[in-house]
Amino acid sequence: MAEVLLIEDDVTIRTALTRGLRERGHAVSSSGTALDGLRLALGERPDLVVLDLGLPDLDGAEMLRMLRAVSRVPVIVATARDGDADMVPALDAGADDYVVKPFSAAQLDARIRAVLRRVGDSRTDTSVSVGALRLDPRTREASMDGTALDLTPREFDLLHYLCSRPGEVVTKRELLTEVWQLPYGGADKTVDVHLSWLRRKLGETAQRPRYLQTVRGVGVKLVEPT
Ligand code: CA
Repeated sequence: MAEVLLIEDDVTIRTALTRGLRERGHAVSSSGTALDGLRLALGERPDLVVLDLGLPDLDGAEMLRMLRAVSRVPVIVATARDGDADMVPALDAGADDYVVKPFSAAQLDARIRAVLRRVGDSRTDTSVSVGALRLDPRTREASMDGTALDLTPREFDLLHYLCSRPGEVVTKRELLTEVWQLPYGGADKTVDVHLSWLRRKLGETAQRPRYLQTVRGVGVKLVEPT
């Protein structure tokens, strides 16, 4: 799932977390000191760094500042002490999230996935527009000619998916996989129903389509109306 660099000086914790994260599909490299960790962070370019704040050679926040000076890699800091006093400098120094010891590999895995999702969204997803349609996935706002569209979360995802591929024929199977997250099942009818609701909200009908063009027997494509 992700390449994780674990910087933790406690061998027992490091071994347990490495095993636990690997069992969850991550590729894990690890280091017991801040300076070695910094070297690995720059050399191996991991997707995410888990940084213990209590390291023998450098203060965690200090290490984070050094890392931030050269890299934007997402960082989750881990600490044994659960007072704000310890966490605030680390968050100020650019940590994306934190975990308080003791924590399990499962908890850490959930944090890792959440951070990567968030970072991925803000880095790769920007607003898309086709014709008078405009969608912003960060705020989940959709509008046409500047007027807000009242879409359900599913309708938003569906429209966003189609708007990201203007002019491209998308099959119902693909929509079930990508929008409904149903790679192995789900009925085409579900897609049809949502498309018809979406049509209504866009002010068009199947008989008089504008943006949403059905390609019989294949799927649907979103186009800029002429
Ligand atoms: Ca430690």
